[in-house]
Parts: sequence; C-alpha cells; structure tokens
Amino acid sequence: MNRSETLFEQAQQTIPGGVNSPVRAFKGVGGTPVFIDSADGAYLYDVDGKRYIDYVGSWGPMILGHNHDSIRNAVIEAAHKGLSFGAPTQSEVEMADLVCKLLPSVEQVRMVNSGTEATMSALRLARGFTGRDKFIKFEGCYHGHADCLLVKAGSGMLTFGEPTSPGVPADFAKHTLTADYNDLDSVKALFESNPGEIGAIILEPVAGNMNCIPPVEGFLEGLRALCDQHGALLIIDEVMTGFRVSLTGAHGHYGVTPDLVCLGKVIGGGMPVGAFGGRADVMAHLAPNGPVYQAGTLSGNPVAMAAGLAQLEVLQQPGLYDELTAKTEKLIHGIKAAADKHGVPMAINTVGGMFGFFFTEEQNITSFAQVSRCNMDHFKAFFHGMLDEGVNLAPSAFEAGFLSMAHSDEDIQATLDAADKVLANIAAA
Ligand code: PMP
Repeated sequence: MNRSETLFEQAQQTIPGGVNSPVRAFKGVGGTPVFIDSADGAYLYDVDGKRYIDYVGSWGPMILGHNHDSIRNAVIEAAHKGLSFGAPTQSEVEMADLVCKLLPSVEQVRMVNSGTEATMSALRLARGFTGRDKFIKFEGCYHGHADCLLVKAGSGMLTFGEPTSPGVPADFAKHTLTADYNDLDSVKALFESNPGEIGAIILEPVAGNMNCIPPVEGFLEGLRALCDQHGALLIIDEVMTGFRVSLTGAHGHYGVTPDLVCLGKVIGGGMPVGAFGGRADVMAHLAPNGPVYQAGTLSGNPVAMAAGLAQLEVLQQPGLYDELTAKTEKLIHGIKAAADKHGVPMAINTVGGMFGFFFTEEQNITSFAQVSRCNMDHFKAFFHGMLDEGVNLAPSAFEAGFLSMAHSDEDIQATLDAADKVLANIAAA
C-alpha cells in the first residue's frame, strides 16, 4: 500500500467517506484519492512524492498557480498582526472597494466565508427584497449546498447520481423551480405558470458544475429581459467564473448586468472566502441597515482578505487574461486534436481559463442533457490514464477544468504528450 492508500483507509474511520467534500473521494472514477502533501506553481506533490501537473487548481481559485510568492507573503504578513478580530478592518474595506471597482454591477458587497454562504445569502436577500419565495435555478448548475439550492444540482450531486438531496424538506424545495440551461423557453414557461411569484433567477454564467457549458448567444440577455419584465432579480453566481473568465467576471465578458453577483474562492486566493454584492438599493435591505439578516464571525477575515487582495492585484496586470485564455485554448485544442488523431469521439468547450472535454459523438455541447449522454467509461479511462502519467484532472465528468498562469508551454506540451498516449490506449481497448 502506498501512503495515499494507507491514509484513505485511516481517514474512512473518522471522516465520513474519508473526505471533507464528496467529489474528492473518487467515487465517480473509482480508485483511491491522491492525498496531497504540497503544491507549487502548476504542480501538486502527493504524499508518496509523485508530481502532477494540476488542472483542478483547488477547484478554481489558484489562477496564479499554487503557492504564489506575493499571496504567500501577504498571508504571512497579515498573520503576524493576528488571525481574527471579529471587528472591522482596513483590508475588508480595500477588498470591497476593489470588487466594486472591478465589477461595475456591484455597488456594495458583503464578505462571507464560502460560495455556499454567498448564494444562500444572496437568495435570502432577493426573496426579502421582492417579497417572493419562488426562484428559478437550472438543472445541472451547482450553487453550494444550502437546502433550497440542492435541487437538481450539479457537481458532486451529479457525480453521485442524486441531484436532489434527502434531508431537504419538500417544503423548502417546493419554492425552487428548475429550468433547462440555455433554454429561454423553459424559463418563460415558469414565469407564465407562476405569475407574480418568482423573486429571482440564479445561474452560473458559464456552467462549470456540469462540465463546462458556456451560455448560448442571447441566453443571458434573455434572462435579464425576463427578470425585468416580471420584476424578478437576476443573480449571477460567479463563484467559479469571477476573475477566472475575465477581470470583469463572466457577466462583464458577456455584457450582461445582474442585480446581484455571488463571488467565492477566487477572491480568497486559496483562503476560505465568499462574497455577494450588487445594486445598492437591494443591498440596503441587508442587516444592519435593513431587515434581511445575514452575519459571520469570520467574515472579512484579515488573513483571507490579504490573500485575496494580493491575488486580485496581480490579476490586474495588462494582458493577463489574454495569456490565460491562450494557454487554455492551446491545451484543450491539443487534447481534441489527439482525440481526433486516435478516433476517440470528443467535443470541447472553453471560456477564459476554464475548459471542458466531452467524450461524445455530438459537437456543440450546450445542454445538460448532452453532458448526461457522454461516455463515462472513456472519461474514467482518460482520468486514470492521465493521473498515472502525472496529470491531475477533476475526478468527475461533471466538472470544468482550470488552467493557471503558472502552466508553462512545457507543462502543456507534457500534458498533450500524456493525452496522446492515453487516448491511443483508449482507442486500442
Ligand atoms: N457556486 C458555484 C458556481 C460553485 O462552483 C460552487 C463550488 N464549486 C459554489 C457555489 C459553492 O462554493 P463553496 O464550495 O465554496 O461553498
């Protein structure tokens, strides 16, 4: 047994399933999860000393690569001044100013500690503001694990084939209406059958929890128009896409203005952080100024703020997102070329630093239904083949992949060489 296997056996005694977040357990792909010892730049190092080129990046936030000098130094400096005060600090004001400057749709922002808290709080605020309980989410989108959002959800929920969780009372789930991503008609139908009752639409502007599915032309604009027409708020969940797709978020990239935006891991630079913000008149309904309650002992934590500010500062370097996008395109088009060469059917999607590959004959993947039809055996074989070759991909066909600025041309070429070998084996099997 190697050390990962030993640790996983030990972990299962005292941690449910041996992991603290389900998708880490490799249930979707089989085998033993790799236990990580350290990370640097584009690489993860496991407890057995093996190196992997990493395309998970802690599920998105490590845009500059792991263990980036300026983020690490900012964290160390902040830690010298104390870990938590539960009182206002200058760094959280700087963070709020910067978020509002970079995202013009955000006039005010409240910090929280995770993406789950961000979406849960934004939704409560939208319901409190509109006085309406019902809201629309899309099948296959994941917005964290708050009760009413665990309905037809993506990410680990899809990996485990249980898109709606037991433990969510039917009374809580009944206000959650689900529509089909990239299908405006399915949204219109819900507004028509629930007149005056829908307070919000929440969505991922690029779906990253059912693999990677960008919005089709007109989809985001159509949702904006429907919200305006029916007096609902548009909540864009940028927990994954914010500052990954572009410096102005995916909504800036596509030119759509939400009423509320959810942010997460990226603005923490790897520390536990989330945020939600948007229109000042909506945010005015939040405690302590307004009646909608929301709070957090560790919210705006000074060490987390320092990490996030350091990352956001570097992300403002001119040309950075063009470079990140070019690297990502080079990788994903290279993987597709290798699949074509070996006759393994594959489709790809990519936006900014996010990418997805689909083992399917279909091209132009825009819907959850198409993702559900993909060849899971090919995915599992590819995932494990790549892992053996020292390439870490998300252990589920329902997750997007992420590149960082630390991935060099050589890293990308090494990944493509590995993909060529693994896809040849899949074709021969
Ligand atoms: N929203 C989206 C779009 C996400 O991708 C995630 C997590 N991957 C969340 C919300 C929940 O964030 P967290 O895991 O930090 O609670």
